[in-house]
This record gives sequence, C-alpha cells and structure tokens, in this order.
Amino acid sequence: MKNFDELFDTEKRALINKVAVYTNDKLTHEAKYFDETSEFPKELLTPLLEQNIFSFLLSDEKLDLAVFLEIIRIVSKKFASLASILLTQGFYAIHPLNEFGTKKQKEKYLGELVSGKKIGAFGLSEEAADSRFNSELKTIAWETEDGWEISGSKKYISDAPVADVFLIVAKIQRSSDSMDTGIFIIDSNQEGLVINEPMNKMGVRSLPVASVDLNKVKLDKNSLLGGVTEGSRQIQSVMNLMKLAVSLQALGISQGSFEKGMDYLSLVRRFGNRLIDNQDIQYKMADLRASVYSAEAFTRQIILTDPQDTIEVAVAKLLTANVAIETTETVIQLTGGYGYMKDSEIERYVRDAKITAIYGGSSRSQKEIIAKHWIDNRGEKYSGN
Ligand SMILES: Cc1cc2nc3c(=O)[nH]c(=O)nc-3n(C[C@H](O)[C@H](O)[C@H](O)COP(=O)(O)OP(=O)(O)OC[C@H]3O[C@@H](n4cnc5c(N)ncnc54)[C@H](O)[C@@H]3O)c2cc1C
Repeated sequence: MKNFDELFDTEKRALINKVAVYTNDKLTHEAKYFDETSEFPKELLTPLLEQNIFSFLLSDEKLDLAVFLEIIRIVSKKFASLASILLTQGFYAIHPLNEFGTKKQKEKYLGELVSGKKIGAFGLSEEAADSRFNSELKTIAWETEDGWEISGSKKYISDAPVADVFLIVAKIQRSSDSMDTGIFIIDSNQEGLVINEPMNKMGVRSLPVASVDLNKVKLDKNSLLGGVTEGSRQIQSVMNLMKLAVSLQALGISQGSFEKGMDYLSLVRRFGNRLIDNQDIQYKMADLRASVYSAEAFTRQIILTDPQDTIEVAVAKLLTANVAIETTETVIQLTGGYGYMKDSEIERYVRDAKITAIYGGSSRSQKEIIAKHWIDNRGEKYSGN
C-alpha cells in the first residue's frame, strides 16, 4: 500500500527494503528445510538482529511500531516461523520489560534481549486459563519474607526450549485475602523451573514450544515486573500489541500464499492455456485480493491511530486470521495436486495460517471481546461513532 510506505522516512524505508531483499533472497530458500526439520533458525535471525530491528520497540512512536510490524509481515510472506520467533521476542519479552520494568530490571535484561543475545518467553496460558487471563489462573505466587515463591504450570510457551528468561503470569497470594495478578521475571536456570520437551506442531514448526512447570520457585523481591501487582493492566498492553503482530503475520502469510498461487496459476500448461485464463479462477483470486487489501488497510489504521484499542485490535486479529485461513485454503484448492505436495510449499501456508486464529488469543475469544462491550454498554461504540 503506497500511502503507508510513504509515511516512513528514507532511513526506515531503506531498512524495510533490506529486510525484504533478505527475505526474498534467503528465507525463500531456507523456509522449507527449517519447516521439515523443526530446527530453531538461529543463523537466519542473525542478519535481522544486525539491523537492530528490536530497537524500534523501545520507542513510543507509532511509526516505529509500524516499522517493526512491517518487518513481521514481510518475513511472514516467506517464513512464518521466523516471524513467530520475532514477535515472541518483541512483544512477549522486550515490550513488557521496556514498558513496565523497573530501572534495575531494564538494566539487567533489556540490552541483551534487544541485541538477541538472550531469548525471552512469556507464560500466561494454563490448562484452565487461556490468553483472556481473566479465566482462572492456577499459578500462584506466595509472598514470603524476602520475596516470592511460585508454583504452577504453563502450557504452549513459545520459545521456552531456547529461552534464557521467562516472564510468568501468576496470581498473587498475600497473607490477606486479596488476589492480584503479577508478572514475574525468572531466569531459565532458576531452581524449580522445569522446561518440558518441545512439542510437535502442525504449523510454525521452527518456533519451539513447550510447557513449563514451576515447583516452589524462589524469587527475590526485584523479580516482580515493575515492582507492582498490576498484572491485568500489563497483560492487556502486551496482548494488544501481540495481537497486532499476529495480524501482520496473518497478512504476510496471506500475501505469500497468494503470490505462490499466482505463480502456479500463471504457468503455461501442456496445451498452451493457463489456469488463470479461467474466469472462475480470476474471480476467486480477485475476491482474495480484495479481502487481503481491506484487512491490511484496517489493521494499519489501528496501528497508526490507537494500537491499544482493545476492541479494534480484536477486530483486526479476527479479520486477518480469517483472511489468512480463507486465502491459504483457496490457493491450495485452486492449485490442486501441485499445491498439496510439500515441494510446492503451498501446503505449508495452510498449516501456518491456522496458528493466527489460535495464539495471541483464539478467534472465539476475540469475538467475546468485541461482543462484551455491547453487553456492558448497551450498544455503545456499535459503529465506532
Ligand atoms: C504454537 C503456540 C504458541 C503459543 N505460545 C504461547 C506463549 O508464548 N505464551 C502463552 O501464554 N500462550 C501461548 N500459547 C497459548 C495460546 O495463547 C492458547 O492456545 C490460546 O489462547 C487458546 O487457548 P487454549 O489453547 O487454552 O484453548 P481452550 O481454552 O482449551 O479453548 C479451545 C477452544 O474453545 C474456545 N473456548 C474456550 N472457552 C470457551 C467458551 N467459554 N465459550 C466458547 N468457546 C470457548 C476457545 O476460544 C478455543 O477456540 C500458544 C499456543 C500455540 C498453539
């Protein structure tokens, strides 16, 4: 979208261009190998870290956020797993520490997370509590004389098998009855923290995911993020940005799948015809183009106006995930047996698209967020004006 790119200055545009060149030249060829082996693509991260891409998340400027999200979209066009690793580090580790960390916490962790020397992970989801976090959390932090003791279990934690530091959400149990929520910073070598075996997944296969158990993990007072028990507010901020990042990932997957589909549909076949010469196929691709374009325009508008507008962010996530699933499924259908084969790499987009409707909060929970407002406020903000 031309107008959006024009908002960036020459330097930012040059950086985005560099990432696009790297994505096209390198990631296009590497994604298949990493998808098949599920290896963590450390060496593919390095050239992006050298561009200091995470430093954009240290700024308050919406345009800087937009640059980082644009990188997520571009990388997702060719290699969605790598984008998952970037968005986990960016919005589950760097953003919460930068936005809410104490001076000491920032000094200890932020530099190495931004440079990529350390990998961070965020543990919110539990057996009975998904990313809505208002559901019942069973991980409890007991206040002790000199700090905290945490016990519980977190499931499906991105990057857990490679993480150096965890941000773990827990209910806070003080001697009084009050039950606040807090986020705790825990080093991966901390006694009592158990990182379980990496899980075998349908898509984003190079993103390592594991469950994490906390068995009476003892922490000092400084390990509570920001030193305050304001977990709900902090999590809201983290989840809003995470959902925007997943939205951009969904758009990138849609666009990458669309391009792959068009390449095949445009090939001249045995009797000189091309699939794209068929009017029905043209119409299907035109519909996809329109859906992707409108979802992209809407999402970008939210980034530039209010990336912390919980309802609009939920709409963007729901919309873009639906578009990614619709686009990738239509493309595999239109490309027939060719698309179904691993070598075409079209089927990988179908598998990768599905995660955008699950992590960062499922599509059903986005609908709940959108609908809750109508119930609570008797229809206010029904049309946005
Ligand atoms: C690859 C991957 C990476 C992840 N990374 C992280 C991470 O880094 N950190 C983290 O904290 N979490 C992570 N998650 C967890 C993710 O956020 C959750 O899987 C997601 O929020 C859905 O929660 P759930 O799996 O517990 O689904 P469930 O709560 O079991 O729900 C299953 C389905 O039922 C729906 N549902 C649930 N309750 C209701 C209801 N009352 N009414 C109607 N429908 C309902 C849900 O919306 C969902 O569609 C990851 C998950 C995956 C798959």
